[in-house]
Amino acid sequence: MRIDISTIKDTRSASVEVELCESVGHLGAAGRELIPSGPVEVRARATNTGHGAMLVQGKARASLKATCDRCLAPFDLGVESEFEQQYKNGRDDGRPRQTAGGDDSGQDEREYHGDFIDIGPEVRESLSLAIPMKLVCSDECRGLCPSCGRNLNEGLCDCPAAPGDIRLAALLDIGFRENGKADRKD
Ligand SMILES: [Zn+2]
Ligand SMILES: [Zn+2]
Repeated sequence: MRIDISTIKDTRSASVEVELCESVGHLGAAGRELIPSGPVEVRARATNTGHGAMLVQGKARASLKATCDRCLAPFDLGVESEFEQQYKNGRDDGRPRQTAGGDDSGQDEREYHGDFIDIGPEVRESLSLAIPMKLVCSDECRGLCPSCGRNLNEGLCDCPAAPGDIRLAALLDIGFRENGKADRKD
């Protein structure tokens, strides 16, 4: 996933905008990886900030194949992220690094080589961080019946409410009849 910076690399403050639509591998952390169900969409702007440095700012969007933690059904999880990353020219290694444009935030810089910046790692990282801890197909997902395992999104089962679950069963029943508009009271 690369940005062509050949038109801006010799002109300070020049910028170029790109829209990319490319396939990437799995996203997420080890042990909790999700496969995109289509290409990742990226809009990004690269700006020449002087001294061979490029600032890339952008947004990424992906749809991932996920499994609901409550009802175990597969669903498409949409994730969006924003990223901002400074890149320095990888060929400037010989001389001491100059501070570019008052940017003393100390964030780690990545390198680019030649006329292209590879933003793939940044895009993958920002999207991976945007994956929620809990994967739920819908806020209204009712999950599975603990007794018979039926997917309660498809209708209630005939299981008697478990002792101690009366309150929950009542809420589910109200929610079902009113099509998910039940007020949740504690
Ligand atoms: Zn679900
Ligand atoms: Zn049941």
